[in-house]
Amino acid sequence: MLRAPVNKIIPQSSVDGPGNRTAIFFQGCNFSCHYCHNPETIRLCQNCGTCVADCPVGALRRDEAGTVCWDPDRCVGCDTCIKVCPHLSSPKVRLLTVEEVLAEVEKGMPFIRGITVSGGECTLYRDFLVSLFERVHPLGLTALLDSNGSRDFSADAELLGACDGVMLDIKCFDSAIHQKLTGQPSERVRENAVFLAKKGKLTEIRTVVIPDYLPNEETVRGYCELLDPYLSAGPIRYKLIRFRPFGVREPYNQLETPSEEYMEQLAEIARGYGFADIVTV
Ligand code: SF4
Ligand code: SF4
Repeated sequence: MLRAPVNKIIPQSSVDGPGNRTAIFFQGCNFSCHYCHNPETIRLCQNCGTCVADCPVGALRRDEAGTVCWDPDRCVGCDTCIKVCPHLSSPKVRLLTVEEVLAEVEKGMPFIRGITVSGGECTLYRDFLVSLFERVHPLGLTALLDSNGSRDFSADAELLGACDGVMLDIKCFDSAIHQKLTGQPSERVRENAVFLAKKGKLTEIRTVVIPDYLPNEETVRGYCELLDPYLSAGPIRYKLIRFRPFGVREPYNQLETPSEEYMEQLAEIARGYGFADIVTV
């Protein structure tokens, strides 16, 4: 039976795609972005046991095989375990089946328009996603995928056919800086952006803006130039996200939050290229 590690499920979210959606966050990522706001989703638990003794209410224990187990009924959500974890992980991850995820999705009906799968990097669990999407469509729900763009979508017609749209995280246009920032080059992300835009499946691109640390203007211009020819194939929202230090690991939590004026300058650049739907948050 297919199972995938799920960090959390938000029953109703209004920031993970259009309308009210159930957002499912998978554990594990093949990038390790400096400014990640949820660094505890990057790796799978190594069962090192560091967090067990620090839990103030005994919600963590090792079983006979040495696996660290989490008791959600005892947990008070203090996140001490996440803070002390030396491996960018969390012990509060559940290995769920498609049916178990669906049962949680159904609790949100009829107040949701669809689901959004995110992470971590959700496409690491590609078979699980295809199976989940096939099950949610008969319920009248749409299925969106939020990805770092590392998977070659042009080589996976089944996954693309199963989802209604992709929201792509655009970290940086320049490949060398992207490599330094995330651990991976940017070429595949660019290729995916063009491929998805041509197919009319690129619902949204999103860029975190950090003044004096990332070449923000170059990234916005680079992607706008790249995608401008395909805007007629389907509307693409550009979401520009102000860097905020919450949840970010040291020393990157010291980076600067951009001003509203700077965000507006970047939005204006995108507008100049014909992007009509620009959101700054
Ligand atoms: S978040 Fe839950 S499991 Fe983690 S330390 Fe706090 S009470 Fe324990
Ligand atoms: S969550 Fe982190 S600290 Fe806790 S057992 Fe797993 S790897 Fe170790």
